[in-house]
Amino acid sequence: MADKKFYLTTPIFYPNAKLHMGHAYTTTLSDIVVRYHRLLGEKTYFLTGSDENTQKVVQAAAAAGEEPKVFLDKIVENFKTLFSSLDISYDQFIRTSDEQAHWPGAIALWNKLQESGDLYKKEYEGLYCVGHEAFITEKDLVDGKCPDHGTVPQYIKEENYFFRLSRYTEDIRKKIIADELVVAPATRKREILSLLDEGLQDVSFSRPRTATSVGIPVPNDDSQVMYVWCDALSNYITALGYGRDDALYQEFWPVNVHVIGKDILRFHAAIWPAMLMSAGIALPKTILVHGFITSGGKKMSKTLGNVIDPEELLAEYGTDAVRYYLARYISPFEDGDITREHCKAAYNADLANGLGNLAARIMQLAQTHLSEPVAVEWKPFPKEFTDAMEKFEVNRAVEYVWQRIQALDQKITAEAPFKVVKEDAQKGKAIITELVTELAAIDLMLEPLVPQTSKKIIEAIMANKKPENLFPRKD
Ligand SMILES: [Zn+2]
Repeated sequence: MADKKFYLTTPIFYPNAKLHMGHAYTTTLSDIVVRYHRLLGEKTYFLTGSDENTQKVVQAAAAAGEEPKVFLDKIVENFKTLFSSLDISYDQFIRTSDEQAHWPGAIALWNKLQESGDLYKKEYEGLYCVGHEAFITEKDLVDGKCPDHGTVPQYIKEENYFFRLSRYTEDIRKKIIADELVVAPATRKREILSLLDEGLQDVSFSRPRTATSVGIPVPNDDSQVMYVWCDALSNYITALGYGRDDALYQEFWPVNVHVIGKDILRFHAAIWPAMLMSAGIALPKTILVHGFITSGGKKMSKTLGNVIDPEELLAEYGTDAVRYYLARYISPFEDGDITREHCKAAYNADLANGLGNLAARIMQLAQTHLSEPVAVEWKPFPKEFTDAMEKFEVNRAVEYVWQRIQALDQKITAEAPFKVVKEDAQKGKAIITELVTELAAIDLMLEPLVPQTSKKIIEAIMANKKPENLFPRKD
């Protein structure tokens, strides 16, 4: 077990605006999965980052009256602050504007695609949506405008490099069907397979330098810069030093899990595997696709006034309560919902009255009646827990842990050690020791979910004293 490795990535995020609840979910879900594997003694590597070589960022910087570099540094600092507030234990934050860390690998990958004969130059004529930073087709438009951005697309005629994505349709299909490339959940697997059934068309892989002011230069062609695919998706290998210093790459590739949102499924389950096949690189093992987060059943929007900002929520409830909510009440596989009312109700019922109260009750008994700390042994995780975690069903894992919490609460009520200890001290102490032992077993499972709370509880057990109030009630 000890030499097993586990590499997980989040998508790289656009630094043109603040991160929202969906980003908080992606990173928290990822962090829980990585922490679980780390606890198993596996060697883990956890990557996140930002997607910076885009015209959108340049525009956002201009709107803020700042140089792109200054603007980017500030936003990236904000990302890192949020990740730190969520206790995200990432190993590396890759920035695609980083000419040392990222560019050499992207260029090396481009060269591989070129060597395979999968890049060719072609005149492109069509529509481009600046908001999307993508080419869009006539049939996507509503009243001549991009339905997402409400803007009229630009008509573009330019020469680009194209990637022979069409060549890989069948191979990718086979790999996904055979689960050699796992796309989870099954609904997303079906979605990508039906897309592959329609066949893939070659995609534009570069843009003329005259059309965009940022981007990685195409090797041996000064007139072109890389378009998003080779520029952004390649971060998953460049961060490990691909094309530069590949010790980490040798150790951790292929990636165990790419965690993504459902809106970027096609890029990760079609374009990216095709690029890797073309370059002779092993495919990812799993692509885990989560849904969107709504509030009160509706998409969060300023107009509706239902936006829940992760920073506000963290300020009100603290790191572990937010992690707990996301882990338990948002399914990793479907769209999830969050409201302020539900957050508060869940906090009071599950954390203040549930876990917090349980830990306080047990450790109060231990502190009063036991002369020294209960010796806790490390026990393997129960099957119910590992089973859920291995399948990324983090919400099911949390439910199982809370069943154990409830059962332990019931045990205190049923066995009434506070009474027994007065009549038969030996027997009373034995019950209290059992309670502490079970609390420690539960606490180990809490580590990936609510790491700060888990640490406070185990410290209380080791010091044989009641912990501070873990989750004060909210009125
Ligand atoms: Zn658009």
